[in-house]
Amino acid sequence: MNNTKELYNKILGITKPWKVKKVDLNVDQNEIIVYLNYESKKEFCPECQKECEVYDKRTSRKWRQLDTCQLKTYIVASIPRVNCKEHKKKSINIPWAQPNSHFTSSFEVFAIQILQATFNQTKASQILRISFSQINTLMKNAVKRGLTRRKKEDLIYIGIDEKSMRKGHN
Ligand SMILES: [Zn+2]
Repeated sequence: MNNTKELYNKILGITKPWKVKKVDLNVDQNEIIVYLNYESKKEFCPECQKECEVYDKRTSRKWRQLDTCQLKTYIVASIPRVNCKEHKKKSINIPWAQPNSHFTSSFEVFAIQILQATFNQTKASQILRISFSQINTLMKNAVKRGLTRRKKEDLIYIGIDEKSMRKGHN
């Protein structure tokens, strides 16, 4: 492994046509930002899976990834849009996150494991270093997506427990 970009391509499991373009270390912020670039002029329409021309790229977005050596790690990328004959302009599916999520799928899976281990959204948000509202949204989305199908009931109980605790119940 001879450079940082290659290292992050490997550890984040980035595959073609996505590629790590740049890795920034912000020591003051305890952050690592990994910039990804889409290196193809074609992609599949997310609706019909037909191969289409890339039309343009959306403004860049940021996703929280699992930490690197306790440094908060983020992915930054501009998602391309295809221009499908049938479905018009559509943002393509990205391999590292669900549409509209601010977290990568690996971060979400880990967050759910922390929630299941702690049964407490406040503790989980502290361990993950995200806000209470972020862990709450993440949990609701995960339940919605069925990502935690079998553990759904457990998660509902976490919500109930914290509400009743605030009311002074055990
Ligand atoms: Zn289409």
